[in-house]
Amino acid sequence: MTLRTGAGHPLPVTATPRDAADPIVEISYDLFTAMRNLRHVILPDSGRWYMNGLHPISAWRFHRELDSAVNDVLTPLYVFTGNNRQTAVALGLIGGPYETRCEIIEPVSNRALNVHVRQIGVRFSRRLPDHVAAADGSVTEHVFHHRPAAEPWLLTMRAFAQAQRDIHGLADRVTPSALEPIWCTWADWSSDDLTDELIRDNAARGVELGIRNYIIDDGWFGPGLDSDYGTELNIGDWTPDTTKIKDLAGLVRNIRALGGATLIWCAPHAVGPRAECFAERAPLLIRDGDGQPVLNPTQFYALCFRSPQARQVMTDLCVDLVRRWDFDGAKYDLFNWVPNVPCESMQHEHDTESMLWGLYLTLKSIDDATREIKPDYLVELKQNYGTPFFSQLGGMMRAGDAPYAPETNFLRTLHVQSYTPFALNDYQTFTEEDTVQDVAVTVIMMMAAGIPAYSVDLARLGPQRSGVLRRLHAWYKENQALLAAHRVPADPDNTVLAVRSSTEDIVFLVGAGGPVTVDKPTTILNGSYTEQFALHSRAPVTVETVDAHGNPSPSLVTEPGREWTVIPTTPGSTHLVRPC
Ligand SMILES: [Zn+2]
Repeated sequence: MTLRTGAGHPLPVTATPRDAADPIVEISYDLFTAMRNLRHVILPDSGRWYMNGLHPISAWRFHRELDSAVNDVLTPLYVFTGNNRQTAVALGLIGGPYETRCEIIEPVSNRALNVHVRQIGVRFSRRLPDHVAAADGSVTEHVFHHRPAAEPWLLTMRAFAQAQRDIHGLADRVTPSALEPIWCTWADWSSDDLTDELIRDNAARGVELGIRNYIIDDGWFGPGLDSDYGTELNIGDWTPDTTKIKDLAGLVRNIRALGGATLIWCAPHAVGPRAECFAERAPLLIRDGDGQPVLNPTQFYALCFRSPQARQVMTDLCVDLVRRWDFDGAKYDLFNWVPNVPCESMQHEHDTESMLWGLYLTLKSIDDATREIKPDYLVELKQNYGTPFFSQLGGMMRAGDAPYAPETNFLRTLHVQSYTPFALNDYQTFTEEDTVQDVAVTVIMMMAAGIPAYSVDLARLGPQRSGVLRRLHAWYKENQALLAAHRVPADPDNTVLAVRSSTEDIVFLVGAGGPVTVDKPTTILNGSYTEQFALHSRAPVTVETVDAHGNPSPSLVTEPGREWTVIPTTPGSTHLVRPC
């Protein structure tokens, strides 16, 4: 075959077979860069686990091979940060969404860590589905090799996502209600315990606290993933369990009358052994070499995304949900539990070799069909089926699943925020053990990375903690237009994150916090436990502070001629900085 590289960055690489009838089946890219002293490695990831491999020694030892597949779509990019914490070099591959193995090939870690080669090598290997080749059999993909002067890793990932968008013509859609805070039944209740009263009561309180979107999660149709393993699942029928939800249509109407909107949870591919539709769907399930349907560890089967008939069934059932119950949106979930095995079923046709490309086709078909009925249908996707290829097929991309772990949730949401500003936090929850300041810090951390989300029994929250949500959501609502923009880190550790406009800035302090430079009216939210921060301004400013409880402090005026001022703060405080 012929191998040709073009010019520019990212670098186009074209492989052409001698004969189009003898196509290229598999292609692998080995990329090398000089070894240097490193701080962190951001591994190819969906955003769920990258924090576990941050240290170079862990990356070499424990994360050598990572697979981008139907159950976990990875960003095919390695970012290596230098001693100065900024990106030193990034190596990635830009191509369509289909199965890819990402591998560290140097330094080798076998009996010992072989660093004497003094280079870092990574490999991206892909089996090419038919649709990727041009008429002459050629395949063009792009190598991303990036050595910025000084850039936080978040911005390197954003540059990679932008290159993916430019090359593949991708664009996120803006769904008007996507930025609204979300409430969900998932974390604070067992999926056995859902009732329409519970949802209605929480919506009534939540609307008053500034929460608009309500997700009826797993379990509304029968046993869910919280149920005992011995309980056979009937997932797949998608009709309400009337012992839990007596009147689903009435519930949707009630929530709408309160000023809220309802999103329904659905795993379109899932078919439980006890589902009434099991016999009808059986020919379309993923099957192994023995012809048996593959049961995943969560105890249900999966429709095969490689089958056009199965994709039509999934599309029809999602359309049926909109038509029957008049929902305002849907949360599509559990593709991360699709068995990552080759489907060898003889009972249905395949029109693509790639299960991952099949997932893309499924979500695109569902999206096209449901938006024909409701153009602003709000769809929640999850980072396991993320990247800019998938984010354009929904209104927001959630960083699941990190309840009771605000720091993990922040890091996961930040990863999603690298490619879409419609990054939805995982549903956070609180107990009596969390102080009012803890609640305020958690909410601000969520806003620092994306859209706030909750799964907390609002009745249990009490007036003070509810007050935090009400105040911060009122501020968030007022600034929603600004918050539709990407967060920009002011430092490589993402401890100061800004949203900037020509007239007004918003700055979030998280983690250890950091200095803030202002040159226009700015709101600073303290989502950290720091008790002071350095404020830099060329002109004198006034600073008005409101603490986590909503109590204002006397306003402070900086001294003329003095550019740096130490501002006292408390966790969860908001500071309004205005020119004098
Ligand atoms: Zn199949």
